[in-house]
Amino acid sequence: MSIPIADHIREIPRSGIRDFFEIVQSMEDVVSLGIGEPDFATPWHIREAAIFALERGRTGYTSNLGLPRLRRSISTYVKEHFGIRYEPLSEVLVTVGVSEAIDLALRAILNPGDGVLYHEPCYVSYAPTIVMARGEPQVIQTRDEDAFALRASDLEKAIRPNTRALMLNFPTNPTGATMSPEEMEKIAAVCVKHNLVVLSDEIYSELTFDGGTHTSIVTFPGMKERTVFLHGLSKAFAMTGWRMGFACAPAPLIEAMMKIHQYSILCASIMGQDAAIEALEHGETSVAAMRAEYQMRRNYIVSSLNEMGLDCRSPRGSFYVFPKITSTGLSSREFSMGLLNSKMVAVVPGTAFGKCGEGHVRCSFATGLEQIKVAMTRMAEYCSELRSA
Ligand code: PLP
Repeated sequence: MSIPIADHIREIPRSGIRDFFEIVQSMEDVVSLGIGEPDFATPWHIREAAIFALERGRTGYTSNLGLPRLRRSISTYVKEHFGIRYEPLSEVLVTVGVSEAIDLALRAILNPGDGVLYHEPCYVSYAPTIVMARGEPQVIQTRDEDAFALRASDLEKAIRPNTRALMLNFPTNPTGATMSPEEMEKIAAVCVKHNLVVLSDEIYSELTFDGGTHTSIVTFPGMKERTVFLHGLSKAFAMTGWRMGFACAPAPLIEAMMKIHQYSILCASIMGQDAAIEALEHGETSVAAMRAEYQMRRNYIVSSLNEMGLDCRSPRGSFYVFPKITSTGLSSREFSMGLLNSKMVAVVPGTAFGKCGEGHVRCSFATGLEQIKVAMTRMAEYCSELRSA
């Protein structure tokens, strides 16, 4: 007997990143700019809060929604950083990373066949998560000449009769794209006009550079009641392994998401929640120090890539650059495979994030400067060898 697999799951393609990294892992001495997670360990005071939780024997379940104290910290943090107030006890849900929050929101909102728009190139999980929630992924391709920001006119054109929701992620993985408040306001107006729910993945919002500020779509008129604000501690606080995220939304939707969370996950870990309280209440200085380091690395990597003839914008957010490699005459995958095989440097082909990522590769600067310097030297050699071949 062959074990049955549900049709909609069988049809989900494997992640392009995963395929590529299986090759990387089978090789030794690779310098990797492929990983999307901070190279920093979680700041000590945050780790200490979890150790203290264990010492006090705090090892049980929490409320399904998350510790009330953490929900208050989240509410205060979101008010201070994003300017929007959520009721801690009814409008906040603590989740296992933003990943779980996205999944819950989609499953709570969608009926089978409902359409969800998202902008590509994007994080690899969006389309599969929509499919797993029985929705229909609806792509809006963004353009290099717009620095991969989303145009309100493209959004409006992409809306179909079955479209229910729009997923946004600014600053964006993999392009580092950010939105001007003016264009974001126009996006908000389109969402109100067409009655769309917005899932706003804010995971990189603290990693905004050059003293710039990030404006969430939720702050525009008519948006709070239709937005699911999704955020977590993985990136800014260097807490990927803790799996701490949260969702803020109107109470009836949080209640619906909580039902799914309650029956599938129960709650996020209590020691992780204690650590998250410490991070949100006292982590500002650590985040600022990591942001300054990322900004310094970004400046280095952007100028190195441009010097070697790869056109590269300076991203205003995230910890990724998305240089153009078309001048080499290779496709994204050919470029990445050639670089890996000949110089032992791993970058991710832009096509892993959607068709319109062709002609680009993603390089992460969540890697130490020394590693970045080695990678840049090898990549410059590779590009000059390609040009003289
Ligand atoms: N959203 C985006 C855009 C990401 O890039 C990632 C991870 O790379 C996630 C969500 C997952 O975040 P978490 O670790 O909070 O589940």
